[in-house]
Amino acid sequence: MSELTHPMIKDGWFSEISNTMWPGQAMSLRVEKILHVEKSKYQDVLVFKSTDYGNVLVLDGAIQDTERDEFSYQEMITHLAMNSHPNPRKVLVIGGGDGGVLREILKHDTVEEAHLCDIDDAVIRVSKKYLPEMSKSYRDPKVHVHIQDGFEFLKKYQNTFDVIITDSSDPEGPAKSLFQEPYFKLLSDALTGKGVMTTQGECIWLHLPLIKEVKADCKKVFPVVEYAYCTIPTYPSGQIGFMVCCKDKTANLQKPLRTVDSETERKLYTYYNKEIHEASFVLPNFARKALEN
Ligand code: SAM
Repeated sequence: MSELTHPMIKDGWFSEISNTMWPGQAMSLRVEKILHVEKSKYQDVLVFKSTDYGNVLVLDGAIQDTERDEFSYQEMITHLAMNSHPNPRKVLVIGGGDGGVLREILKHDTVEEAHLCDIDDAVIRVSKKYLPEMSKSYRDPKVHVHIQDGFEFLKKYQNTFDVIITDSSDPEGPAKSLFQEPYFKLLSDALTGKGVMTTQGECIWLHLPLIKEVKADCKKVFPVVEYAYCTIPTYPSGQIGFMVCCKDKTANLQKPLRTVDSETERKLYTYYNKEIHEASFVLPNFARKALEN
């Protein structure tokens, strides 16, 4: 039987090269075994076992998750929004096919329905096989899966979801429309009165002009818009942010509305806690200057 190969894996190392999103740099991970290579209808799908970061999902050449550090991003993009809503009962994920955000949403007892809309069923299929800890929530009866373009899906909903989390890939390829004003308008319409949304907000070391544009577009739609971030070794430059927005103009997103005691917090979360919720909105001066109104 022939061994699997992939053009981005050479001499036993995967290198994440992108001349547009992170020119002149590349995160490399040592590969133990290539597990899956596929050209789906929408993107190049690669899964490999790394020597030090567990299994790794790569879409169109960009690392989406590693088993070792995924909790940082998944917890922050989820709980910044979920803990900023007084009673999130119906929640939607756009993208997020690996299932990690669903897993985090279901940690909240308030949740009655968790919907996920990913454009590509191949991501869900390979995640169920190779990323079991991330995808385990697909078995939960509260979960409803929709395979469709997130932009088109949202057009059907008005005043329906308390929280919407856009866990998308980068704005090249199928996720491009998820970083623009018409999409934010659809999100706002689909959210209930005190609705909160978070969206993958890219990196302050690499994408400040893009973040500035996305923030300005969000502000045309939402009265409260903030950028927060977390650290994570396997995303470009070790940092990724979130645009966090709310329909309630009196909301202070920087302080969690709902908290749990420290013991429960330690059991539930590996990265998130109430102090890091507040701290994640504090930006270094160069980013603050670029993103201030
Ligand atoms: N945390 C990851 C990151 O920032 O690298 C993102 C992970 S998640 C796997 C990204 C998902 O977004 C993929 O499964 C992809 O299929 C999905 N996606 C991309 N464009 C989409 C669209 N227009 N509608 C719905 N899902 C989309």
